[in-house]
Amino acid sequence: MKILIVGAGIAGSGAAHMLARDGHDVRVVDAVDEPYSGGYQILFDRTAMRVVDQIGALNVVSELSTPTATITVARGEKILATIRTEGYRSARRGDLVGAIARHAATRVPFQYGRELTGIEHTLAGVRAHFADGESETFDLIIGADGLNSTVRRLAVEVDRSPLYENGRHNLWVNVPGRVAGTTEAAILLGDRVGAQVFPYTDHDETLVLTSFNLGHGRHDGTALLPRAADLLASAGPRFAPFVEHVRSAAPDQIRMTKFAQIRASQWHARNVVLIGDAAHCIDPLSGAGAHGGLVGGAIFAEELRRTPADIAGAARRYTRRLRPFVRSAQLLTAGIVQRATAHGIPQRLSADFSLLGAALATRPADVPQRSYIPRRPVTGRPRRQR
Ligand SMILES: Cc1cc2nc3c(=O)[nH]c(=O)nc-3n(C[C@H](O)[C@H](O)[C@H](O)COP(=O)(O)OP(=O)(O)OC[C@H]3O[C@@H](n4cnc5c(N)ncnc54)[C@H](O)[C@@H]3O)c2cc1C
Repeated sequence: MKILIVGAGIAGSGAAHMLARDGHDVRVVDAVDEPYSGGYQILFDRTAMRVVDQIGALNVVSELSTPTATITVARGEKILATIRTEGYRSARRGDLVGAIARHAATRVPFQYGRELTGIEHTLAGVRAHFADGESETFDLIIGADGLNSTVRRLAVEVDRSPLYENGRHNLWVNVPGRVAGTTEAAILLGDRVGAQVFPYTDHDETLVLTSFNLGHGRHDGTALLPRAADLLASAGPRFAPFVEHVRSAAPDQIRMTKFAQIRASQWHARNVVLIGDAAHCIDPLSGAGAHGGLVGGAIFAEELRRTPADIAGAARRYTRRLRPFVRSAQLLTAGIVQRATAHGIPQRLSADFSLLGAALATRPADVPQRSYIPRRPVTGRPRRQR
């Protein structure tokens, strides 16, 4: 089957490798000019690492990452919980994405600087139009093009935006030094503000990611620095070295993002399927985006192997299998950040509702055991999809 994957991120690169191993004719395009490198700290949980192993990239990822710091959850100086992270790996997001893309590129052609701008269903399949004016027909287009997915907007959720926002904003600041070597990270809870403090594993620096309850609209990150610094100061002497760095960070040293999730009602339409953040962004705060993107690609590849002539059937089963994880991760992440930054009873109730929903929706992760091993050769053309 001739497959176009739009997006050379974690989801697109992982899926490209698996589908190529299954014998498909796969191509990846990305609008950026070259593979990523650098960026903020990210962690791959055990499940994400299992899929990394399945695509044969364990050595590549292990070489450039280190074990993830143990995470303590604290209010003031009181430690409320410790989160175990055995088997997790951390590195800079761009480095990990770039490494997985380069690994997949040993099997699949990657074209950088190529932006998808149009999708057209035809009798022969689905036609992709690119910004360079060229177009080409494929049997299947996979949209792995992230939070602001063009594929989703053009072909799947055409009439509505599935973007979910809850008025929380995240302030990102890198500060020199670490809490305690590379082995300790923290989640700090305050009054209407919460923070994640994560040491970089490749050099002596720490990411302080503070969440605020500011309502909708745009906000100036610089004005929020004192509140972030005060939260650190309230967490005790371990964080004292960071306080002044955060308080006096220059505008070009900070980044503001809105808490955002994609809650799409469907993840496929005819010969177009969404994976990764394009289908179900959970928000960077979750630490589960790589998990969802990699496992989703593995599940879809497995389902397509079962019914290569029925893309819609494979997409429906993939959706059914991954949705419970996504639903619980989204409700849990939204609930935690809302609870940590809640103001007043209605906001607390809304957060508790989200957390209750997460508890009810929670399902064990569904990782295919043999996600890239073809059971039989892929033959035949796919049926036209509705
Ligand atoms: C700063 C940060 C920290 C994070 N921390 C964690 C963490 O600790 N743990 C975790 O699991 N997750 C984390 N996440 C989330 C995780 O990184 C994402 O869920 C994951 O990278 C999404 O991968 P993706 O492949 O779906 O999309 P993306 O990585 O967004 O890739 C989409 C790609 O599509 C390309 N593209 C977009 N439109 C087009 C087009 N029209 N034509 C061609 N190409 C296009 C883009 O250039 C991009 O390369 C973090 C995210 C951020 C931003």
